[in-house]
Amino acid sequence: MILQDLHSHSNWSDGENTIEEMVTAAIDIRLKRFAITDHVWRNSPWVWDYLKECRRIKEKYRDKIEVLCGFEAKCLDINGSIDILDEVAKEADMVLGAIHRIPKGGGNFFTRREIYREPTQAFNFWFESTLNMLSNSLVTTVAHVTAALNKYDLNVFLTEKYAKKLVKQFGKTGKEIEINLRYSDPLPIVLRFMNKMTKYHIGSDAHSTKEFLAAWENQLNRVK
Ligand SMILES: [Zn+2]
Ligand SMILES: [Zn+2]
Repeated sequence: MILQDLHSHSNWSDGENTIEEMVTAAIDIRLKRFAITDHVWRNSPWVWDYLKECRRIKEKYRDKIEVLCGFEAKCLDINGSIDILDEVAKEADMVLGAIHRIPKGGGNFFTRREIYREPTQAFNFWFESTLNMLSNSLVTTVAHVTAALNKYDLNVFLTEKYAKKLVKQFGKTGKEIEINLRYSDPLPIVLRFMNKMTKYHIGSDAHSTKEFLAAWENQLNRVK
């Protein structure tokens, strides 16, 4: 298994460090592949400059590490559309789709109050959006796949039936499950249905070199 981390942020979005600082931290702990996946919106004006800078760093360190220049884009609706322009997504090395708030469509999201009032409906929207994001050809994979359930106290709705379906959808679409170190995601019930055919990778989701090193130190201690 290749030592890699396919989810991280730099100061191009809400991270603290530059792309170069993040990449050199990854080289220091001997990762072989590392993705910068800054948060993006369809109207983010900086995307091309970001890709240019990321590619400069990718080239500079190519003998030491494979850098992937990517994005994390939020899910916009139940069809699994994400908040990135097609032409930008196609230029990137990878695109993470993510649910931070559960989409209702039309640019709207469930409020916390609405979720507490109608948890079943919110869960169903979460589930459909997630499955459809996995089918979206622009999406490399879905980040922290069950973190929104945890955030909105919807874990109990992810029964065996749904967890099984979710893992199956990853397999069917050929996408890898992200083991997200920031949120300790996915939930154990998802891990339980993963088998030796299930593909996965680690994403620290680190927003600084400090967070990155702490997350990986933890991880490496666990396997020692
Ligand atoms: Zn995220
Ligand atoms: Zn992230």
